[in-house]
Amino acid sequence: MKNYSQKTNLTFIILLILGMACQQQSEPAVPQLENVPNEVLDQLDALGFNSNEVKLYDGTLFIEGDIAIKMVDLKDLRQGNRLPVEEHYNTDNLVSGSPRTINVYVNMPQKYKDATDIAISRYNTESLDLTFQRVSSSSSADITITASPWYYYFFGILGSAGFPTASGDPHNQILMTRAYYDGVSNINGLATTIAHEMGHCIGFRHTDYMDRSYSCGGAADNEGDGGVGDNYIPGTPSGPDANSWMLACGNPEGDRPFTSNDQIALDYLY
Ligand SMILES: [Zn+2]
Repeated sequence: MKNYSQKTNLTFIILLILGMACQQQSEPAVPQLENVPNEVLDQLDALGFNSNEVKLYDGTLFIEGDIAIKMVDLKDLRQGNRLPVEEHYNTDNLVSGSPRTINVYVNMPQKYKDATDIAISRYNTESLDLTFQRVSSSSSADITITASPWYYYFFGILGSAGFPTASGDPHNQILMTRAYYDGVSNINGLATTIAHEMGHCIGFRHTDYMDRSYSCGGAADNEGDGGVGDNYIPGTPSGPDANSWMLACGNPEGDRPFTSNDQIALDYLY
């Protein structure tokens, strides 16, 4: 999920630059985005992405704000075949083999484990075919939650994830930005972002897919098909859902438990 406001980033950048001037550190103050090669932009266009909305840094493409796809994995994206409409969506790839238990390992401080437990209980309360459980060992993990790289804060990324694999496994990594959440006072806000990233891992796209300006502000923008499918979930409304957990943007303290439409979407897929 992406932070809805970039103002704090600017403040942080200024403070960091001031701090670095004092400390004579060699780390660059602001990450320099890399140019996305034209052939990659063409490929993303062909896949249905809005190529104006793509960032590239450290070999990773950031799409829709918080979907992190490594350049080397780009070839694995499949072109979807449906035109986007608003509301709840899923990717072409879903987690298969249900009923299935998905093990989540949190390699972060206790606050993140507590928030993950809240997110897990939100899913498990829905009595889905997927059951989540937190495990204490990375060796049995299906999804590992760990700290994001330092530059996530500059990009306004609260947390990132990816989509299920073509073979039906959940995406295996969630990266959370500690600069946003270490000091958060509302643990449910942290739980909401973790639940959001878990939603991507099992195949949910953004609820305001058609126009991210709904939750992110700014100019109207269509995220495009994205090459991973944007299949409309029957029974969910045709307009953006005001409090959906899968809105593209939020703020660190904001709690968005599942709405009735979110519950319909979860129950439909799993
Ligand atoms: Zn997201």
